[in-house]
Order: sequence, then C-alpha cells, then structure tokens
Amino acid sequence: MKITRLTTYHAAPRWLFLKIETDEGITGWGEPVLEGRASTVEAAVHELADQLIGKDPAHINDLWQTMYRGSFYRGGAILMSAIAGIDQALWDIKGKALGVPVYELLGGRVRDKMKTYRWVGGDRPSEIIAQMRDLKAKGFDTFKFNGTEELAIIDRPAKVDAAVAKVAEIRAALGHEVDFGIDFHGRVSAPMARVLLRELEPLRPLFVEEPVLPEQWEYYRPLSDSTAIPLAAGERMYTRFEFKPVLAAGGLSILQPDLSHAGGITECFKIAAMAEASDVALAPHCPLGPVALAACLQLDFVAHNAVLQEQSIGIHYNEGADLLDYVLNPQDFTCQDSYIAALPKPGLGVEIDEQRLIEANKHPPRWRNPLWRHEDGSIAEW
Ligand SMILES: [Mg+2]
Repeated sequence: MKITRLTTYHAAPRWLFLKIETDEGITGWGEPVLEGRASTVEAAVHELADQLIGKDPAHINDLWQTMYRGSFYRGGAILMSAIAGIDQALWDIKGKALGVPVYELLGGRVRDKMKTYRWVGGDRPSEIIAQMRDLKAKGFDTFKFNGTEELAIIDRPAKVDAAVAKVAEIRAALGHEVDFGIDFHGRVSAPMARVLLRELEPLRPLFVEEPVLPEQWEYYRPLSDSTAIPLAAGERMYTRFEFKPVLAAGGLSILQPDLSHAGGITECFKIAAMAEASDVALAPHCPLGPVALAACLQLDFVAHNAVLQEQSIGIHYNEGADLLDYVLNPQDFTCQDSYIAALPKPGLGVEIDEQRLIEANKHPPRWRNPLWRHEDGSIAEW
C-alpha cells in the first residue's frame, strides 16, 4: 500500500481535519490542529507530505521518526500537532486495513468503558450549578470549570475569596453527588496558586489543572507539597523529552497530553507509559473534534493509568458546530453515566461525513483565543 494524497479541511468551530488516501482505496482521518493556529499547522502538514507520499502507511514507527528526526529542527506545538494528526490517520489506515480497532493493535483493552467529563461554563456559580443539575439529570456526574478569571502575580484577597466562594456555592448546592476538576488555565502565578490551593482544599476538587503555566513547571513539586489536591498538567507539553524532567521532578498526579498536539497515538502511548512508571494518572486533553477524541479513546482503552477523558460536547468554544456534527456513527460515542464504551469500528472508530467537511471548508473559521488585559492595561494570561 502507498500513500497517495493528503487533503485538509477547515471546519467550525476551530478544527482542522486531515484525510490521507492510499492507492488501495483505504483512507485514514486525523485532526492536526492547534487551537487558533489551524492554518499554521496545516502548512506544516503539507510540508511533511513530502516525506509521506509514495510510502507504505503501515510503517508508522518509521514514518513518525522520519517526520520527527528527518528535518533537524523538531518539537514544539506546531510541528508536533502536524505529526499528531498524520500519526492518527496512519493508525486509522492500519486498523481499517487489518479490520480491527487501534486498541487491538496496541495489545488489546484493559477496560470495558472509559469515564469522561463535561465542561461547564458561565461566570456565575448559579449558571454552573444549573448546568450541572441539567447534565446530572442526563447521566453526567463529572465536570470541569475554570477556577478564576485573570489574576495578577500578586492579587487582592477579595479576588481569591470570590474564586473560592464560587466553588463553595457549587459544592453546597450539589454536595458530593457530583465531582469536578478546576482549571486554573495557567492564569495563576506560583504565589497565588499557593494561596488558592490552600483555600480550595476543603472543597475537595478531583484535581486542579495547570496550577501555574507549563513553563513554570518547576513549581509543580513545591505546590503539590503544599496541598493534598492532585495537580494536573500537560496539554502544553509536546514530547516524551519535555515530560521527562517534569515527571522526574514530581508534583503532578495527572498527566494530560493532547493526542492532537503531542505527536499522536505513537508518542502519547509512550508518554502514558512514562506516567504509569511514576504512579501518575493519565487524562488526555481533548477540547477538540471527533477524530481527536477517538484517538484519545484508543489510548484510554490500553493505558492502565487512564482515569478521565475530556470531551468537548457542549463546550463553550464550540460555536457553529459541536462534537458529533461531522460524524456518521454518533451512536458509538453515546455517554452512559459519563462512560463511553470501546469504539467498535476498525481503525480509530470514527466515520467522518466528508460531504459536510467539504461544505464547512468553504467558510473556514478564524478562531482566535480572547485577549485579556489586567486592570492596569498589561496583558493577562487567558
Ligand atoms: Mg486546560
């Protein structure tokens, strides 16, 4: 079998899809995208195509190493997202060619169903509580929401109190019928993270995510020494080589590599094993589309340390389309009590509605993340 063509489609809300065709008629799908940089990653994909056209798609390990090592410069958000989407499509092709789901190619399932969680948005606690109640009635019991808006390096106790009061109100309203993680989203500095974690600890969140920016990862260990709340991070780390010193330093309880940013299934399978060796759980980051989610699930079903899967149904970023709008087998993604069963179809297990993508690509979205500023006019982390 030979790779003959790579085609990319932009689609609302902020996604990029990749189709890889072969001379035997089998096609694979990937999602090589970085939120807000879809066109940059797309350019990288088409540059990498020079190393793929005419090659046997079954040689995933060799093609991965060729893409990673074959152009001297490597790593980083753009290149690793491009490799990630290509890697997903190659696994999809291989699974389809052999007639089995990717998790069978990775040694077979370790679990029957995978726990997922839902995002809840809204600025006011009452909005979050209402959404949680509504989703609870539909069978979801695990959630995540943002912990705070912009916060200065040293900020006022009143701002800390407001952030804590929000969580306290949610806990008071719903008790322990629901579980939730709190995303600091890299908005919080190390000094303020220390204060917030202490104040939030009695409210028993499942985890706090990106307690500080990933480039400040040396603070994960001292912060974890100061709190019993499990700390999670990893969505802005892109290779084994980046995760290595972070795991060695300790402090994280949950690793959150993104299967569309960190080199795809091939790389994240290895990152998951590194985490397992450090007694660190896996919760793949996925506020993206259906191919990215399917790739995550393939890994979740073979990684013993996978505990939670993020998914973007109803997420506040999904304007113009939602998770399953471009999917022909949405029933396979049904959530029962927050769990998704192993995807039964060969390859990644997702069937893409290409006609809808062709239509969507006629009006490519230009999603950009919001720009926030502090009260004094200086730029703030979003
Ligand atoms: Mg996050």
